Amino acid sequence: MGKIKRIPLAKPFIGQEEIRSAKEVLSSGWLTQGPKTVEFEKAFSKYVGSKYACAVSNCTNALFLSLLAVGVKPGDRVLTVSHSFIATANAVRHAGAEPIFIDVENKSFGMDVVLLEKFLRKNNPRQLKISAIMPVHQMGFVCDIEKILIIAKKYHLPVVEDAACAIGSELHGQKIGKPHSDAACFSFHPRKVLTTGDGGMITTNSKKIDSFVRLRRIHGMNIPSEIRHKHRRPVIEKYLVTGYNFRLTDIQSAIGLAQLKKMPAMIAERQKLAAYYKKKLKQIPWIHCAEPEADTRSNWQSFPIQILPSAPLKPLKLLQYLFIHGIQAKPGIMNAHEEAPYRKIHASLPVSEYLKRNTILLPFYNDLSTKNIDFVVRTLVRAR
Ligand SMILES: *Cc1c(COP(=O)(O)O)cnc(C)c1O
Repeated sequence: MGKIKRIPLAKPFIGQEEIRSAKEVLSSGWLTQGPKTVEFEKAFSKYVGSKYACAVSNCTNALFLSLLAVGVKPGDRVLTVSHSFIATANAVRHAGAEPIFIDVENKSFGMDVVLLEKFLRKNNPRQLKISAIMPVHQMGFVCDIEKILIIAKKYHLPVVEDAACAIGSELHGQKIGKPHSDAACFSFHPRKVLTTGDGGMITTNSKKIDSFVRLRRIHGMNIPSEIRHKHRRPVIEKYLVTGYNFRLTDIQSAIGLAQLKKMPAMIAERQKLAAYYKKKLKQIPWIHCAEPEADTRSNWQSFPIQILPSAPLKPLKLLQYLFIHGIQAKPGIMNAHEEAPYRKIHASLPVSEYLKRNTILLPFYNDLSTKNIDFVVRTLVRAR
């Protein structure tokens, strides 16, 4: 027997194209946000089908700025989910507001629209100072954004989509980020499908929102450097508001441009791998595979499976068992309300808690071999 080879949970899909692209920027003399970022934004908005795209340093800041842009103020409340990476809730707090957690539904991992509607009917959103709804397309599975938008309209609430994981996911054949709502926010962290190391993007069809976030990501400067440098005469910029430094560097944007070109192929491969996994896992009666809702496409940012009560091992024991066999799996998505900063928020979120405890994420990345999938499935079959 040789040394056990580890199958990682995830792996960024970086090749010579990205390396060449980053190298070019490194030799160009212009490293931070500039012409490459403008190019990346244009390519990104073309890819998702939005009018505008504004690059920022990460998705947490994208969500924060978008919440400010739709009018969230200190003392307000934002309806969102707990069953998400903690950045979702943190972005609300950064804006000075408090999250109100709506439970998710089992199938899409997204906000339960029946509970959302019920909450708004039973509580006075004005009195509670609710000023936005922020649903999440968890792991690239499309949430019921259409119903959420209908409810939001009825209560005159803006919607910001946390699309951190959802690049290339689709609803009725249209990309998430087109956008369906006021703004959609993407992440380019290495755990997402498209990565720039770290990074984020805000897509919108509203000129007002785009101008708002664009101004604030770079200290409120009215003329960005790439425009100033094009002028033949010195141009003096002004600072119109108190802004932030949320720049994406041109090195990151160059990597993003190379990644974006590979998106169709990357998503097609992920779809094939997911289908192969699902076919093979059918033989295990105590595993339930996630399935995208009708007329939606998941980009399969992750491959989650539900462990049913009939399983020979409890989910945490199963993770340990997989680890011993060289397979890196992970518990399901976390819940913000079970972590220290949000524990005081009173919420009944049974589905969120069920999903966290009974879901595990299996290894899933772009050049995962079917041989390795076979090995994962074989190991699961033998679980005792
Ligand atoms: C990754 C992630 C974020 C945060 O993205 P960053 O770019 O790391 O700030 C926010 N929301 C969800 C759902 C995520 O998965």
